[in-house]
Amino acid sequence: MPALCRHCLKSFDEAPKRCPACGKARIVAHPELFDLPIAHIDCDSFYASVEKRDNPELSSQAVIVGGGTRGVVTTCCYIARISGVRSAMPMFQARKLCPDAVIIKPRMEHYASVSREIRAKMVELTPLIEPLSLDEAFLDLGGTERLHHAPPALLMARLAREIETEIGVSASVGLSHNKFLAKIASDLDKPRGFSVIGRGDTEEFLRDKPVSILWGVGAATRSALGRAGIRTLADIRRAGLSRMEDRFGASGRRLFELASGQDARRVSPDSPMKSVSNETTFNTDIADREALMGKLWHLAEKVSARMKARDLAGRTVTLKLKKADFATVTRQTRLEEPSQLADTLYRAGETLFDKLPKGQAYRLIGIGFSDLTAADGRDPAGDLLDPYAGKRATAERAKDAIRARFGADAIRNGRGWDGE
Ligand SMILES: [Mg+2]
Repeated sequence: MPALCRHCLKSFDEAPKRCPACGKARIVAHPELFDLPIAHIDCDSFYASVEKRDNPELSSQAVIVGGGTRGVVTTCCYIARISGVRSAMPMFQARKLCPDAVIIKPRMEHYASVSREIRAKMVELTPLIEPLSLDEAFLDLGGTERLHHAPPALLMARLAREIETEIGVSASVGLSHNKFLAKIASDLDKPRGFSVIGRGDTEEFLRDKPVSILWGVGAATRSALGRAGIRTLADIRRAGLSRMEDRFGASGRRLFELASGQDARRVSPDSPMKSVSNETTFNTDIADREALMGKLWHLAEKVSARMKARDLAGRTVTLKLKKADFATVTRQTRLEEPSQLADTLYRAGETLFDKLPKGQAYRLIGIGFSDLTAADGRDPAGDLLDPYAGKRATAERAKDAIRARFGADAIRNGRGWDGE
């Protein structure tokens, strides 16, 4: 079976246990290893890894990147994950689970510059790169073998090695025959992973997976599928295409195709993006403003990271909410100046939210930028038109310093754990 040493990049026809050339056990073997063109690469807990790289004293400590405007976890390192910390978790809960964690405020501009270094390495391999966020991208390496005298698997192993040795953060690679499977694969073996899903093992791989593995299946779709007795991908396939379409329309067809391992979407570097947004559906409806704003901040950070990855700025902000009775509410506002900042997006969303009737329970919240332009030349670090941005940052730093000395409970403005 074809195999590759991820340490020294030697390839083999028969997979050895250890590499006979370098002695390492970092062997990846798969019957289709050298035939699969679509890769997804995803850095491991990227923001936390950059912080650890910049400050080696942190390397053996639990690191949580978060706080920001709202007190939620943006990223945490693998040590913090052992204690149960997860991204999007309120910071007070994360501190309780992992009291020794070092908490660092996100430095998005810095992460964006590290991201640009990584992107530059990808560009050497193929023009077909589709970034999903600062630390994640699809690459289509089909047809590049003649140019590079190396198959996609080797190029990706070399890319991951270079990101680790030259940039100083680790990454995980998924290799497959389409985007959907490549993205799943990159998540199978984190951190420092390299996973392959071939055409021959697609069906077996997908069979017993839960429907939540599919793109776009959140809590709401999952429970709708559950009501139809559908919990696994095998259930979807058993239901059949026509029943899925009857019951769920166009998305039924899409779910059926994905459940069958089919995904015809191309890796598109310059698909004209009209908007960038993220939304989340809750397990139970939420009426509490603070809880909703915590979710909103986390979504704003995600949207902002995607905007920065694509070097875009947006002028229109849309807030989307879905009420308990499924009625959708959207509100829009136009910014003075296009922006890509999480803080600007969040504040616009918060203002729109506060104009809505109070005390409503919602099942979904989403936020996004539209009316997009290239961000080039814009100072990503500051909002020149927001004279209070600097003051807010100073105030936030002061609060953080007090929290660091006296603990998270030292500051409360009578509105819970993250009063502003
Ligand atoms: Mg990542």
